[in-house]
Amino acid sequence: MGHVFPSGGRLILLLIFMLSAATASAAERTSKQNNGWEWAPLDIETMRGMARSIEQRDRGYLLAGAGWWVWSDVSSEFTVQVAYYLQRFEQLFSQIAPLAGRPIDPAIPRVMFFERQLAYKQMIANRDASGHAEYRWDTDRITEIGFATRLDQYQQKDFDRLNRATLQHEAVHCLLQKSLGPHAAPSWFHEGHAEYFERWDPRQTVNENRHRLFLRNATGPVGVEFQRSGQLPSIIEALNLQQASDMFGRDGGHDSHYYYDLTRSLMETLLNDPEGIALYQKLFERLRQDEPVLITQEEAATLQTRWHQRLRDAIRAAEQEKAQEDKRR
Ligand SMILES: [Zn+2]
Repeated sequence: MGHVFPSGGRLILLLIFMLSAATASAAERTSKQNNGWEWAPLDIETMRGMARSIEQRDRGYLLAGAGWWVWSDVSSEFTVQVAYYLQRFEQLFSQIAPLAGRPIDPAIPRVMFFERQLAYKQMIANRDASGHAEYRWDTDRITEIGFATRLDQYQQKDFDRLNRATLQHEAVHCLLQKSLGPHAAPSWFHEGHAEYFERWDPRQTVNENRHRLFLRNATGPVGVEFQRSGQLPSIIEALNLQQASDMFGRDGGHDSHYYYDLTRSLMETLLNDPEGIALYQKLFERLRQDEPVLITQEEAATLQTRWHQRLRDAIRAAEQEKAQEDKRR
């Protein structure tokens, strides 16, 4: 197995998204948000049925299920749980993100989940990434799409100990691309979605998630940098992130955490601010039309104003919530 996709065929373009290994810190990964997953009895029943379709393939387990093709060498049980989680997450995503979660291309993503870092590293080029999504397309359709990831070293093989953030991050790249079909989106747009929705917790309500992700504007690298230096982030810098490699700070300015968070917080504005939502819909249409100008200077200026306002509001809200919490103690 040399690569996520078999070589050959009429593949003319390739776009790769990588997730920096340390995007979520170890502390965050062991927090409640990413741990202690519990299945309902009905879920266990459904997965028991799915397990009957498992095949042994390439020293692992393959489940070619609804919407996803999942291979893993962790265990048969783990493979079923990943496949089922992806199905459930896709349903949720289509509700919370109607534009990004409405596929116009029927391509089925191939998912490879490795137990060991070494096997994963041998398969993909970017050695430090914890996840890796890619797709290929020709003029009118996606020809291949999928992602690969691995267990973290300290992780046990149980799904309830899994860092679901990486799984969701890479799945969102695939779902977003299926909703764009063969039309390419810039890196900030792709990573913004993946970063925003990787933190979505299916156990919380939509409002709880939205509020928690709004507060992240204060506590994430961009908010922290703003509070430290007093400098608000530049929308030009965010919009200039065109390729995955740009996320790793080629100019030696910020580190990759900052760039990923830059796209996340900008997307937070596009998905939640009234003016942001209106622009977001236009961006989607323009991407699907391959329009040369994705965002005008005037729109970028307005978006930056709204974005900066949300950063300030989030910092104030985070301070208030902290004060209230301190009072309760
Ligand atoms: Zn990504």
